Amino acid sequence: MTYIIAEPCIDIKDKSCVDVCPVDCIHEFERILIIDPEECIDCFAPSEQLVTSHGLRTFEELENTSCRVLTDSGFRPAFVKRFRRRPLVEIELAPAFEERDRYGGTRLTTRNVSRFRRTISATPTHRWLLSDGQQTDSLGVGQFVPAVKAQPSRDSETYRLGVLHGLVFGDGAWNKQEIRSGEHLHYVQLYGERVGKFRDFFDQVNFSPSLDVHPGYAGTGVVRSCANLKKLLPETADPEYIAGFIDGWLAADGDPVKAGSWRLRSTDHEALDWLERVAVLAGYVAVGSGEEGSIETNFGVRSRPIRWLYLATRETHWRVMSVNAEEADEADTFCAVVPGKHEFTLAGGVYTSNCGACEPECPVEAIFPEDALPDKWNAFVEINYAFPDPAKINTLVDKYADENDVHNEPIA
Ligand code: SF4
Ligand code: SF4
Repeated sequence: MTYIIAEPCIDIKDKSCVDVCPVDCIHEFERILIIDPEECIDCFAPSEQLVTSHGLRTFEELENTSCRVLTDSGFRPAFVKRFRRRPLVEIELAPAFEERDRYGGTRLTTRNVSRFRRTISATPTHRWLLSDGQQTDSLGVGQFVPAVKAQPSRDSETYRLGVLHGLVFGDGAWNKQEIRSGEHLHYVQLYGERVGKFRDFFDQVNFSPSLDVHPGYAGTGVVRSCANLKKLLPETADPEYIAGFIDGWLAADGDPVKAGSWRLRSTDHEALDWLERVAVLAGYVAVGSGEEGSIETNFGVRSRPIRWLYLATRETHWRVMSVNAEEADEADTFCAVVPGKHEFTLAGGVYTSNCGACEPECPVEAIFPEDALPDKWNAFVEINYAFPDPAKINTLVDKYADENDVHNEPIA
């Protein structure tokens, strides 16, 4: 089982833990409460990624650390833990959107969506939040899970610098002759409303009369930096900078395809892979990707095919397309404990419930993850695993209380 109730609960039984348990798996016995080991929740494979204020991280690399995870009310403090070994299932998800149905209402559908899929490795009984507000611990084909994305501030200096970087990366010019005193100079031609609206973000805008013949030319923005921004991805930047970078790149190179969606085409496959992973930090959900078949152009053959990525800003959901048992027998499982919220976001913006909800509620600190149970209370592993046998549990608890002279004071 994942959590164990230990000695401090004996004869206290105030039941603060019972109400918060999302799967009602804490049960009352004569002198103690016991957690049903089959029902108490486990979570994800070690390699699954979650969205933190420092970008995407795997559960494994965050083990036993505090972080801030993305929830539907912003970033919240969390603690990542390893749980017992369990068999896992692979859950395949496809992006879904709300559409009008023929009866004048709305429904969630995957229609018109590419074959884009996201897979999650989780325990079969993991607790999921559904798009209709319900919860389930047996996620099945056809159910919908909400997507959540960050909404970083877009009026900070960090955001402004990110936009300049994104504009240069997408459509700027860099020339190796123009490195002055270690400073790289980049130029962005400001054509069209989408790029032009960032004119005031530049510290310097030159005007080239020769370019004025092009309709919509609003000047040439100059960006100085200590590195070549045409090549550099802001991999370790914070969410505001990444939001600026993506907004700048989309303004320079993206095509709005539908209300609330962008398409970005590029031969820089590594940059698109990175963007697919981090888009959720900037308020976008990657919902489609692919590669163009032809690499012929009017100028010859391209060395790399063009790939494209669709980013949605509108409300997105994930439809469960399949749930299949994984071949490997069992694996360590991990989860993030998010006090007071019990929800967090996986890579791609997949929103999920989680647990550990009972632990902070106990006024006498009687609840522990099994692998964090203090040695002096090891006897409670046997007592908890005796569930659901009342005779055995009551006998074991009486014996323990006698032998250890337990006299817990009632809570005032
Ligand atoms: S960890 Fe969650 S599921 Fe398990 S007993 Fe506590 S509240 Fe219930
Ligand atoms: S909150 Fe703690 S003391 Fe109260 S019933 Fe639950 S485990 Fe026992």
